[in-house]
Amino acid sequence: MAPKTLPLREELRGQKSYGAPQIDVPVKLNTNENPFAPSTDVVASIVARVTEAATALNRYPDRTVTALRGALSEYISAATSTPVGPESVWPANGSNEVLQQLLQAFGGSGHTALGFEPTFPMHSLVCRGTGTRYEPRQRAEDFSIDRASALEAVRDIRPDVVFVCSPNNPTGTAVAHTSIAAIAEAAPGIVIVDEAYGEFSTEPSAVQLLSQHANLVVVRTMSKAFALAGARVGYLVASREVVDALQLVRLPYHLSSITQATALAALEHVDELLGYVEVLKGQRDRMAAELQAMGLKVLPSDANFVWFGGFDDAHSAWQALVDQGVLVRDLSIPGYLRASAGTPEQTDAFITAVRHIIKEKVA
Ligand SMILES: *Cc1c(COP(=O)(O)O)cnc(C)c1O
Repeated sequence: MAPKTLPLREELRGQKSYGAPQIDVPVKLNTNENPFAPSTDVVASIVARVTEAATALNRYPDRTVTALRGALSEYISAATSTPVGPESVWPANGSNEVLQQLLQAFGGSGHTALGFEPTFPMHSLVCRGTGTRYEPRQRAEDFSIDRASALEAVRDIRPDVVFVCSPNNPTGTAVAHTSIAAIAEAAPGIVIVDEAYGEFSTEPSAVQLLSQHANLVVVRTMSKAFALAGARVGYLVASREVVDALQLVRLPYHLSSITQATALAALEHVDELLGYVEVLKGQRDRMAAELQAMGLKVLPSDANFVWFGGFDDAHSAWQALVDQGVLVRDLSIPGYLRASAGTPEQTDAFITAVRHIIKEKVA
């Protein structure tokens, strides 16, 4: 008897799952995490809060995530010099889940999303997962978003959702505030500004534009600057109407008591955790300067990583770096690789390894 074929949705057949290779090497610079592990102070706060939460684990968590939304609204108000109330904040298991909830509510069958490539692959993937048509447009030669072509794309496509990644992953490019405002003005649907790297940027946060543009949604995460990738906490800042809409698609009790407790504990240490931002920017700039000195092409970065190119075969270069114990990211964009800013020691190891492959003409 022939084996039965599973009734997998047509658009998912033959597709690969997304995720960077998790390879065990000494220097991991491939997923833009903060390389500094939580201090004993931060760990102690997390343990205390989680211990408390554990005493009530027979109960479901707070479904409306009240305490954490309060703490996040205080953080984001201070960080962006913009008053933001808890009703405008909505957290989930990583900003990827926030993006998925947004597409479940505002995308779906018969709906279209516009994105500017190259950009974060999860944007098109959440579209695929939710049955939303994804319309890619190319960024300019320098990987900025050309305002006139963006507005033309918005007029042509009339998208329900526009993705603007700023600073952009993988290129590091920040999008000008004025361009975001113009896109929000022209867009008939929502405009999602993915600010996963907002804490590293020289551009002000799009949170400052929310009062003038009710269709703007700013998505942020605790996975990068906050050094909390393992806890899975991301959030959006938007109008109360957007937050209300997400209540229709979110799973009940989506954010565990343990996760809520962990995030609340980390937010007691904002100054310490964000203290690493300046250190990482320093390492990023050192990496950029060294790569440039080796004759490689380096894009200006507003994030905690460097996008660099000039390889004949980026995949061979990636492999040669892995062979030396340094893991960077190959996003299959010809000639280019991405490397996260690490500790000073990791940066040294990275620079030595790249110098080696250039000298040996590996790629
Ligand atoms: C890393 C990253 C995220 C973060 O995802 P989490 O689910 O919050 O860990 C979101 N957007 C972009 C552009 C990223 O690079």
